[in-house]
Amino acid sequence: MAGRIRAEDITAVKERTSIEDVVRDHVTLRPAGVGSLKGLCPFHDEKTPSFTVRPAVGSYHCFGCGEGGDVLSFVQKVEHLSFTESVERLAAKLGLELRYEDGTGSGRDGGTSLGKRSRLLEAHRVAQEFYASILLDTASAVARAGRDFLRDRGFDAAAAERFGVGFAPGDGEALTRHLRERGFTEDEMVTGGLSGRGSRGLYDRFRGRLVWPIRDTTGDTVGFGARRLFDDDPIAAKYLNTAETPIYKKSHVLYGLDAAKRSIATERQAVVVEGYTDVMAAHLAGVEGAVATCGTAFGVEHIKILRRIMRDEAELAPARVVFTFDGDAAGQKAAMKAFGEDQRWAAQSFVAVAPDGMDPCDLRIAKGDAAVRALVDGAVPMFEFAARTTIRRFDLDTAEGRVEAMKAVAPIIGSIRDTSMRPEYTRTVSGWLGIEVEQMAAEVRKAGRVRRDDTHDPTRRPASTDEVPEPAPGEAAASLPVPDLRDPVVFTERQLLQALVQYPQQFDDATVHSLEPHAFVAPAHRAVLDGIRIAAPTHRRGSTAAWVAAVTDAAPLAVRGLVAELSVASLPTRFDPSTGLPPQRYLEALVGGVRDAHLGRQIADAMATVRRAQNDPDTDPADLRERTMALHRLEIERVRLREGLSS
Ligand code: ZN
Repeated sequence: MAGRIRAEDITAVKERTSIEDVVRDHVTLRPAGVGSLKGLCPFHDEKTPSFTVRPAVGSYHCFGCGEGGDVLSFVQKVEHLSFTESVERLAAKLGLELRYEDGTGSGRDGGTSLGKRSRLLEAHRVAQEFYASILLDTASAVARAGRDFLRDRGFDAAAAERFGVGFAPGDGEALTRHLRERGFTEDEMVTGGLSGRGSRGLYDRFRGRLVWPIRDTTGDTVGFGARRLFDDDPIAAKYLNTAETPIYKKSHVLYGLDAAKRSIATERQAVVVEGYTDVMAAHLAGVEGAVATCGTAFGVEHIKILRRIMRDEAELAPARVVFTFDGDAAGQKAAMKAFGEDQRWAAQSFVAVAPDGMDPCDLRIAKGDAAVRALVDGAVPMFEFAARTTIRRFDLDTAEGRVEAMKAVAPIIGSIRDTSMRPEYTRTVSGWLGIEVEQMAAEVRKAGRVRRDDTHDPTRRPASTDEVPEPAPGEAAASLPVPDLRDPVVFTERQLLQALVQYPQQFDDATVHSLEPHAFVAPAHRAVLDGIRIAAPTHRRGSTAAWVAAVTDAAPLAVRGLVAELSVASLPTRFDPSTGLPPQRYLEALVGGVRDAHLGRQIADAMATVRRAQNDPDTDPADLRERTMALHRLEIERVRLREGLSS
């Protein structure tokens, strides 16, 4: 990523770009009321247009999938670009020269009209061509070791050309000399990570190695990965990658993504492999959604990149991400870590491990293209892989081992985002362990509850900095997880909050007061309810606009956008034609639905407590009686609630 663009230049780009024109490149718009235009959303599949643009405000919002923002966020999302790239792209269209915070900018260096980022990209383009020409020059022996390496792994010249593979000569100055002849400055070569600076001047960073160009999503080369070929290579590392530069951040790049992007977007499947040769092998075998990280573990930024491309949206059928890992312990550890990360997206993760632990490149050599495709097609859910890997640590022949395994595996089931899948997985795993389903289910609920208590406090800042999304300039920092509307309970919560925001007069004080934030599952919903409860009841009896303003003021910063969305989104119910209001019965059902779900969770917890107490020989009978009574009271409360709703 390039140095920071000056804030006033970003503002100028936004002001001078017409959001309507930019959106019209992707979406057909039609007028929809005063000052707004509508079209089919480019970010989710829909048949009825809910994607709205307000040119005068310079913003867009989709009422279907919730995407929204300004012209820069639109370009970022639709073109799969970073923030900086989006600004640069729009600036180029406007003919506007950008200035960067470190004082560099377009127009420097002898009148060249290219900006700093563009100069570095150009240097990489020239370097890639240089390396490739040397590899492919069969008349010369310089790169023979590189060609041999590729041939041994099943790659011919056409394959090398397709992926832009090249060879960095061992003499140590060939590229530096070439770039200098092409007019690049020493600073550009060093800053771009192509040359190093030593006591005797510049030297090539990659020497005597096979090099793969690492490209960004638009296909521009931003760095290189280089493999050791010679025993006398002074650098022992098998792979050497470009260090962090203004255009290369290893946590933000995926090797092969430029080639895989189209397949990932249309198939909605990404395949994460471990190395450059694995990416090549997979693509050549027909698995065209294959990518690899470059010298780093698969991380949060990589997830963000893939999500944007595969349209990992709640409304869509889940996208698939398949990880291939070595069958060894390190690979399994990586899989377990990825499973933790997995909870950040709606996509379903799978793991593909070849029976004999071969990577895709070896597999293609040994068994051909079809075997690589079969490996990916036969991937098992990440959950299953994680659960089996965990269970394997315990001795299931003893009762203690089974209980320990159950405790270890319960959090994995409890962390599956799609709650409707949990009972099925609970049954499956209890079968593997040979224990009662009910016992397993209680353990899963317990694990799930610990997680909820841990994460659902909206006032709590995320523990890890990883969890804080990168704020766009001028945007508030912390945000809460987007409520998963596929969960019917969460969807009911949302409708209730919408009604509370839009039709405050329809609710009496007692009802509003009786709603407790912890009765809501989604942290963002709890935070909105906080705003509603804090806003003075007097506002609720005033105008709706004043009420919305009061709730917005009272709500935590992170959910103010959500309050705005809730205030305009339409309620999925038939309105009373005589009053123009949502029917009272519908509103009561929403309040009841949220309470019922909360009671359900409380009852499940209470049952687990009672069952544990029953199985514990040390339990005080009076204590057990009390717990049983508490459970009974909750059950009666739920029966009464349901009777009230159906009467
Ligand atoms: Zn949408």
